[in-house]
Amino acid sequence: MSAPMKYLVILADGLADHPIAELNGLTPVMAANTPHIDALCAMSGTGLLNTVPASLHPGSEVANMTVMGYDAEKYYNGRGVLEAAAMGVELDKDDLAFRCNLISIKDDKILNHSAGHISNEEAHILIDALNAEFATDRVRFYPGVSYRHLLVIKNANGLIECTPPHDVPGSAVADVMPSDASGQNKEILNIVTDLIERSQKFLANHPVNIKRAQAGKATANSIWPWSPGYRPQMPTIQQQYGIATGSVISAVDLIHGIGRYAGLQSIQVEGATGLFDTNYAGKAQAAIDALETTDYVYLHIEAPDEAGHEGNVKLKIQTLEDIDQKVVKPVLEKIVNGKNNVTIAFLPDHPTPCALRTHTRDAIPFMIYRPNEKGDQVNEYNEQSVKQGCYGTLNGVEFMQTLVKK
Ligand SMILES: [Zn+2]
Repeated sequence: MSAPMKYLVILADGLADHPIAELNGLTPVMAANTPHIDALCAMSGTGLLNTVPASLHPGSEVANMTVMGYDAEKYYNGRGVLEAAAMGVELDKDDLAFRCNLISIKDDKILNHSAGHISNEEAHILIDALNAEFATDRVRFYPGVSYRHLLVIKNANGLIECTPPHDVPGSAVADVMPSDASGQNKEILNIVTDLIERSQKFLANHPVNIKRAQAGKATANSIWPWSPGYRPQMPTIQQQYGIATGSVISAVDLIHGIGRYAGLQSIQVEGATGLFDTNYAGKAQAAIDALETTDYVYLHIEAPDEAGHEGNVKLKIQTLEDIDQKVVKPVLEKIVNGKNNVTIAFLPDHPTPCALRTHTRDAIPFMIYRPNEKGDQVNEYNEQSVKQGCYGTLNGVEFMQTLVKK
């Protein structure tokens, strides 16, 4: 009997882009020097994939959930629950979890969504103080990283509408406060509104903020809960796809959170930053090592997305060339060129076009390499070439179904 098939998914976040005038109409992946990605492509079948259902925003959490084989319309339930999973906070089924930012407000307007990218140390002092002042047997804050924390309200039901603070810098706070369109969830709305208002009075005079103000830094003078939801009832990847064991490698908490609900192990790699200076080679080696002992590895690389958000074409090309040299090259050498039983997919989750500096919901190019199978006629991996690929256009969970098909 032959060894069971294993799966490596290499996810280059935000890789896809639009034609760019300064590149003579090429996209970054067309312009980048990527011999190893193209070598893999020559051995692969290719196509386009729609990762974002029409009813949802094109967030990385939605698109990555799709690529992992989950119907995001069914299972996506906000960022709060994913971050709770990544932080190891167990949620009961009637726990309502919010991502809770520390933000800066000035003159009753949102100054920034990050309290000036407050340090972990300062933020943890503030979250502890908020718990000491406001926690009850139903309400609790959990410290995360920098400005990104968690608020859990127990014994809740129903949802309220909240505004992501990064979408509304400069807006009057009164215009973007949480709301309850249904009119059915006044109790939750009152708890959250009250916490926001009381946090502002409490945080204004906290020593951490007095010190930040004296140093000319933005103060963390309000909490901002958003993206509320309840724990998703997701089947594991084993239940859904019959893959016995798997792991996730990522610098991004949300991706680990999805992985937890999917029953995957989290692997942390030293020097994985989520930026262009990330430890690409270390992450690739961790993936290659993990394939020795597990059947599915989701290797997520954030860097191209960050370059896209910065609108930095040159940096985006650099991230793709680094992925080519430091990730795909060792994968070719150590997996593809060895006697192997690993099916490999390479794709982004969504486009992050440099010209727009945000995500779009356009279909993304993907390729799937299978050992002992020939590729299709597409020999170069990019947004245009894969339109001639053997898979045509897939939607949502069809990608994972195609990946694992015997
Ligand atoms: Zn993304």
